[in-house]
Amino acid sequence: MLDIGLLRERFQQRYGIHPSAIVRAPGRVNLIGEHTDYNDGFVFPVAIDRATYIAARSRSDQIVRVVSSDLNEEDAFSIDHIERSKRPWHNYVRGVVMALRAAGHPLTGADLLIASDVPRGAGLSSSAALEVAVGYAFQTLNHLNILGEELALLAQGAENTFVGVQCGIMDQLIAVFGRADHALLIDCRDLSYRPVPLPSSVAVVVCDSHIPRTLAASAYNQRRQECNAAVQLLQQWHPGIRALRDVSEDQFAAHSDALPEPVRSRARHVVSENRRTLQGAAALERGDVAAFGRLMNESHASLRDDYQVSLPDIDLLASTAQRLAGCYGSRLTGAGFGGCTVSLVERSEVETFSRDLVQAYRHATGRTATIYVCRASDGVGRAVDNAGPQG
Ligand code: ADP
Ligand code: MG
Repeated sequence: MLDIGLLRERFQQRYGIHPSAIVRAPGRVNLIGEHTDYNDGFVFPVAIDRATYIAARSRSDQIVRVVSSDLNEEDAFSIDHIERSKRPWHNYVRGVVMALRAAGHPLTGADLLIASDVPRGAGLSSSAALEVAVGYAFQTLNHLNILGEELALLAQGAENTFVGVQCGIMDQLIAVFGRADHALLIDCRDLSYRPVPLPSSVAVVVCDSHIPRTLAASAYNQRRQECNAAVQLLQQWHPGIRALRDVSEDQFAAHSDALPEPVRSRARHVVSENRRTLQGAAALERGDVAAFGRLMNESHASLRDDYQVSLPDIDLLASTAQRLAGCYGSRLTGAGFGGCTVSLVERSEVETFSRDLVQAYRHATGRTATIYVCRASDGVGRAVDNAGPQG
């Protein structure tokens, strides 16, 4: 956890006054349910114990000043006239403020100081953590009554339209609704969710491959198009289908021959991944971590063979992890073409597991992976109440 005292001190140094609130929103890792969110399907993420913190104080004018202490950069803009900035990180903040305004929420200006221990661009969703923290900071300063679901949708809207990244809703929802020691089974169609406890004996171990995700954006858009193509074709037999979420494995099997490749394989991943995600949540609910781990391994194989978003070095990370002692399951997490794997590991074995995984990866690839041992944490909230003199 970040040092809240230091955050307050930095705010005081920069703005000459104490912050009136400090909020935090966590990063996340998805345990299973990959590339299902934009198909109206199911995902199963945890909020992690790394978060973006914002120290904040209202201003009496319409100016917003922002410091990112991680980038050592600043931004300033007026709430009445928000334009897109050439500096990408500015747009996460500006976009959320814009979205709040567009939704009709009355805001005054503010001074903000951001500090985060979510690694940026690693696939742990530092972007959603930042958006949700910004939204919550303004909600707190302006005493707004914004429901969690609305906050998540505003944040996603900001990333889609203002930043220009076509992300699904998972990252923002888990940053809002995450729960300590639980994963959330989220239905990305109606945004309902069910917390499922994680056994205290297992750790969530994230391994960042440090492979640059150069192919990720174009492949992501292509996969989305292929999923839409599958829906259109399957509608010939099942006109009620709106998304691959509506297709059962039996329906898919009956008509899969009519789908051209690669559309068939893409659809097979999504249809089977939805089933695995529901089965996985049910397995954890009855305490069957081993069954959950097997589904993680199957998810990886499906991402590798059917969805084709893995890379040989990511396969190596997953298959090595799967063989190590204490590991229940391991898979690629996130959009793919680099990024991270996630493994469920018996807590007593985590140290040996991490050491052996990094060593094997270095030996085979020459790259040094970074391990994050994560604990499932709460979603957005106040980091410290009454952090300083109010007013
Ligand atoms: P991920 O969400 O996987 O970390 P993204 O590329 O979606 O990766 O988002 C990372 C971007 O979000 C950064 O490049 C930066 O623009 C912005 N960002 C995230 N955290 C911060 C921060 N603490 N300060 C400034 N910008 C941040
Ligand atoms: Mg992101």
